[in-house]
Amino acid sequence: MSTTPDEPRVDDPRADDRVDEILALLERAGEVDYIGEGVSQLVHALQAADLARRAAADDEAVLAALLHDVGHLCAGPDAPRMGGVGVMCHEEIGAAYLVRLGLPQRVTELVRGHVAAKRYLVSRDSGYLRRLSDASRVTLNHQGGPMSPAERHVFESLPHHEDLLRLRSWDEHAKDPSRSVPDLASYRSLLRICLAER
Ligand code: FE
Repeated sequence: MSTTPDEPRVDDPRADDRVDEILALLERAGEVDYIGEGVSQLVHALQAADLARRAAADDEAVLAALLHDVGHLCAGPDAPRMGGVGVMCHEEIGAAYLVRLGLPQRVTELVRGHVAAKRYLVSRDSGYLRRLSDASRVTLNHQGGPMSPAERHVFESLPHHEDLLRLRSWDEHAKDPSRSVPDLASYRSLLRICLAER
């Protein structure tokens, strides 16, 4: 079966349905504020993914950047909230959602770990805490605060911990209301490839 450059072959038609579901969720995020920041959830996701692309990150890391906050979007109405700054345990909710859809394990583990990376960096560097946005400092309190030395040791043993630190950096810098980035459709092909491989 032949493929075109823009539309890789997908044997499993259910992959298209899953891609559509993810893109629709993110599309709706264009109307959702990114918890106290100056951009929408969609813009935040697109800027994070664009930073990953510009850093020549691999496809799975780019998708993790695009999807890292999907837990804020897919959580049900009864999910516990962190006051006005998003869904409690959004990293676990988002990772579980992406596991269910069949994203590669590395993508789901990066999504699951992106809050832990913040807790790690805060515990390593007091300057990092000062550089966090106001909203991110508020959520930190709900997320367990800085890691203990024992928690840091566990974090450093994670197979993707270096990737998690890079993702954290893209996350922190993806809040610029003045920056234009490629749109959501530019990630359709990448999502189809990753889901079709499952
Ligand atoms: Fe984020």
